Amino acid sequence: MQSGYVLKSAVRPEQEDLEKINHLTRRPFTAEEVYTFKVALCDNEIDRDGERFSTQALYGLADLFLGKSGIFNHSMDAKTQSARIYDTAVETDQSRRTSCGEPYTRLVAKAYMPRTQGNEDLILEIDSGIKKEVSVGCSMGSAVCSVCGTDRREKDCGHRSGEIYGGQPCCTILGDPQDAYEWSFVAVPAQREAGVTKSCHTQESSVKAEDAEWGRRWKARMLQETAKYFSITCPGVTAQTAQRMAEGLSPEELEQVVKGLRRAAGSVVPLQPQLAVEKQRTGADESFRI
Ligand SMILES: [Zn+2]
Repeated sequence: MQSGYVLKSAVRPEQEDLEKINHLTRRPFTAEEVYTFKVALCDNEIDRDGERFSTQALYGLADLFLGKSGIFNHSMDAKTQSARIYDTAVETDQSRRTSCGEPYTRLVAKAYMPRTQGNEDLILEIDSGIKKEVSVGCSMGSAVCSVCGTDRREKDCGHRSGEIYGGQPCCTILGDPQDAYEWSFVAVPAQREAGVTKSCHTQESSVKAEDAEWGRRWKARMLQETAKYFSITCPGVTAQTAQRMAEGLSPEELEQVVKGLRRAAGSVVPLQPQLAVEKQRTGADESFRI
């Protein structure tokens, strides 16, 4: 998994965009019916795991990501909340060099989602920058040492990622894209544009933004919810214990836990108003599934 970020949200689709979108939909959508946004999926810079995509690989990934759905790690029903990539492009900034000395190049995608009552909140979150980070999952055919070209999956050549050889940092170059599985929004709040983090393609990126006010608030709310639902589903566990258990989790894990607990709590004590709304939204969304 490598992660990128939302570049631009709430872009009104042009005719050209609509045509591309409508190639993917069951029925034609109008500009008013879709929400479109632009995301940087990945680039050719070395990530924190000492890996990078070859520039050539970005072109291959551009084709593979077309039509792929993005998942939102969201507290509501994830099934009904997805966006789809309808256009991709590889952009090169000749004025900027990567740490390997190549022109900075990134894979940019345009995605759409139908505007429905069910995803109003989500659209708001993207617009406000709360859901800014995007991680991608893909399968790469090769992972070679940048110094000697040895396949790092086969054997250890002795070169260490991050160390300098002949004036250049050593890294693992990922090439030969085989498949692109998914891309997803990481529920880590804004303030991270400056320091976009990436991790290797085989692991979920674990991103921490404790320094961001939004991050703190989001986490505090999730911890509160964890404690609340724990007290309903497991009456013997104190709020303090539940909070302490949840504190070390990654944002994705914490969301998973809250979601699971909420569902479990709902079956113990019917959380009427909230469940009723969620159900209704889920039902309404079904016809707009993309
Ligand atoms: Zn090597």
